[in-house]
Amino acid sequence: MVTPTLPARTLTIDGEIGILAVSYPPVNALSQVMREAIVEGMREANANPAIKAVVLICEGRTFVAGADITEFGKPPQTPSLRDAQDQIEGAGKPVIAAIHGTALGGGLEVALCCHYRVAVPGAKCGLPEILLGLLPGAGGTQRLPRIVGVEKALDMILNGSHVPATQCLAMGLVDELVPEGELRAGAIAFARKVLAEGRPLRKVRDTDDKLIAARGHPEIFAQVRKANARKFRGFPAPEANIQCIEAAVNGSFDEGLATERKLFMELVAGTPSIAQRYAFFAERKAAKIPDVPDDTPIVKVAKVGIIGAGTMGGGIAMNFANVGIPVILVETQQAALDRGLALVRKNYENSAKRGRFTTEQVEQRMGLLTGSLEMEALADCDLVIEAVFENMAVKKEIFGTLDRICKPGAVLATNTSALDVNEIATAATSRPEAVVGMHFFSPANVMKLLEVVRGTKTSNTALATAMHIGKKVGKVAAVSGVCPGFIGNRILAARGAQAQMMVMEGAMPWDIDQVLYDFGMPMGPFAMSDLAGLDIGWSKDTSKSATVREVLCEMDRRGQKTGAGYYDYEVVDGTRTAQPSEVTRKLILDFMAKQGKVARAVSKDEILERCTYAMVNEGAKILEEGIAVRASDIDVVWINGYGWPVYRGGPMFYADTVGLDTVVAKLKAYGDRMGPGFTLSPLLERLAAEGKTFTR
Ligand code: NAD
Repeated sequence: MVTPTLPARTLTIDGEIGILAVSYPPVNALSQVMREAIVEGMREANANPAIKAVVLICEGRTFVAGADITEFGKPPQTPSLRDAQDQIEGAGKPVIAAIHGTALGGGLEVALCCHYRVAVPGAKCGLPEILLGLLPGAGGTQRLPRIVGVEKALDMILNGSHVPATQCLAMGLVDELVPEGELRAGAIAFARKVLAEGRPLRKVRDTDDKLIAARGHPEIFAQVRKANARKFRGFPAPEANIQCIEAAVNGSFDEGLATERKLFMELVAGTPSIAQRYAFFAERKAAKIPDVPDDTPIVKVAKVGIIGAGTMGGGIAMNFANVGIPVILVETQQAALDRGLALVRKNYENSAKRGRFTTEQVEQRMGLLTGSLEMEALADCDLVIEAVFENMAVKKEIFGTLDRICKPGAVLATNTSALDVNEIATAATSRPEAVVGMHFFSPANVMKLLEVVRGTKTSNTALATAMHIGKKVGKVAAVSGVCPGFIGNRILAARGAQAQMMVMEGAMPWDIDQVLYDFGMPMGPFAMSDLAGLDIGWSKDTSKSATVREVLCEMDRRGQKTGAGYYDYEVVDGTRTAQPSEVTRKLILDFMAKQGKVARAVSKDEILERCTYAMVNEGAKILEEGIAVRASDIDVVWINGYGWPVYRGGPMFYADTVGLDTVVAKLKAYGDRMGPGFTLSPLLERLAAEGKTFTR
């Protein structure tokens, strides 16, 4: 660990303006030492009668980018942020915040205590605390609505968005923009103007003109709650943030601050925020691979080849076009290529319609995509990603060709969901070190997760390149070793097995789905199957009516796409809604009767425990086999690829909150019900016996 150096604090004087410059690399986080620098610097500036106005500016690449979140949950150290803010706000002379880079969280809360704010056009401001399950706890919820109004404050705080300086200017959060690269001079000039015009010491806390419109209108808040109910489901922070802004509207500044303090303390001590902060660090940790040094050379990816322009290939291509990397898509048939490119165009155009980017940007991106029916077109690609049918023979043939035609040093990746990457690498190529799995999730242009699959022969360079490019295209990348299903789908299979068994014990698919939905998952396994299609891996010719799923497929109930699957689908008010199906129920009961099984009541607790604890047990096996490097990587996979609620921190973190001894005791108590193939993970058992955890 790097020992933090004391922040540099310099107070220089330019005529009648004092310039307090503080610096605490890398992001000027508001650690104790930084707070002290501000407090001491402001004291000095206040005490100097020659200084008539103060510019508060940060050295380095940014203004204060936020709190030091490693201090959260630890005993508070003085001076507090409040002390620093009081020094600024209570100064007897105007203080001007000079903002570049980002002013986020505590950084913006400091700037809000200044009497004026100037920024360069490239700067961004925001209160992103909600993304860590928190609220801006240093007056942000009280000052922001006073300066930008309730509606904009709700929008900014509830989305945690980073708002560009031009928009900040328009909403009054910033008083003036100064040219890029001239922040210091611009801020000094602005300070002189404030003095020359005799502008008042504007304390945001003392204003309420922007709040008045919302007073006596609780429906404003009710509407926000309603509109975001789905997005906020399970998270306590959004409601707490809304209550703070309501308090700003309906009471005095000090009452509002008291509400903010109380709710902040509740959130910061609660499991959801602890889990969200854990997940934040887990994502960063996942990028580090213990035996791959940080300075491992990587391949510069200037051109990407993708084989297969189907569901995955098109979506994967979009990721690269989005960041300006040209892509060549290879298909076997012109029609398939045209279909793939047309779908990509449609996706982009839909985004443009929603205002996400301009039509020129659609064309720019489309201009980066070219198609070919010749594998030879991939010869000069730095990275090739294969996304053809999930069939080992087809993949081997493709990798054999790639081996022949691709330039030396190219990284050859497969998007396989479950096939053996080692077999593809060694049996089909003479350069297994170049082969790596890059497992994107569907829809590949949307889903955050990238599982990077490390074969036994994968070189550090191929691995580091896959991780690096994943990050570049905005994915959260985590490394998995080779095993059936890798980390994510292997755990999914463990959960699916329990779900299937419980259906044969008396729980209906919708009962199971409901429990997992209530737990916070976006949907349960049966709704997920209906969405993906029950016929993945099913064939009419080999179907033997051996399982409920097979019979459903034979009945052409192949999921949402055929209008029925485990569920019946009805269109209500233009949206497709799933309804429990009598057909499925009868089918299940018939299967049970044939197998001589009698339905019993399966409790909600049993559904939840068997599903989630089986996942934990599989995760533990994945850890002890070395498939995952660390427990937190498993959590990263499940949060970003499968919608595990981040406020529960992923399956491994969740197991720790439940207590591993409880997990083991329950799994033992369910005994035979867990199924004939089920075995307890020795690692899980040992950690439980030793009173240890996976993630703490
Ligand atoms: P898909 O059937 O939609 O697309 C496959 C495409 O590959 C088709 O357009 C086909 O014409 C083309 N193709 C087949 N053989 C080819 C060849 N020799 N040369 C060039 N093109 C060829 O399949 P998909 O859903 O996109 O899946 C692709 C891969 O991604 C599979 O390995 C799958 O397991 C994996 N995957 C799929 C998902 C998913 O949810 N669909 C998720 C993750 C990974």
